[in-house]
Amino acid sequence: MNQNTETIFSKIIRKEIPANIVYEDDLCLAFTDVNPQAPVHILLIPKKPIVNIDTAQQEDQALLGHLLLTVRKVAAQAGLKNGYRIVMNTGNDGGQSVYHLHIHILGGRSLSWPPG
Ligand code: 5GP
Repeated sequence: MNQNTETIFSKIIRKEIPANIVYEDDLCLAFTDVNPQAPVHILLIPKKPIVNIDTAQQEDQALLGHLLLTVRKVAAQAGLKNGYRIVMNTGNDGGQSVYHLHIHILGGRSLSWPPG
């Protein structure tokens, strides 16, 4: 598992590579996924380079709460009135490919369960 804290998302945070940013505040950033799996597919990330929920620290509690409460702001702004799914792929078996904590916000269609 690559736990390097410098990822492609660090470059997006620093605006070194382009992204379709849909929300930003002091602590977090949301942008559309480059490979969308639903009509709305947004990634919400902390600006702090936490690898994933498994490595988050007690000191990150307020930041993680802020991220979760920001989800609904981003979802409302995206027009997801009928519901949506949030996903945090974590580690190898979780299918995580970018090792900077992120919340997928998926919506705009009915989503099946269970995931693959
Ligand atoms: P994971 O598989 O780690 O849960 O999710 C990483 C997500 O980041 C994937 O859905 C992938 O499409 C997205 N992604 C990877 N690189 C980029 C990029 O450079 N820009 C954007 N907007 N999304 C990216």
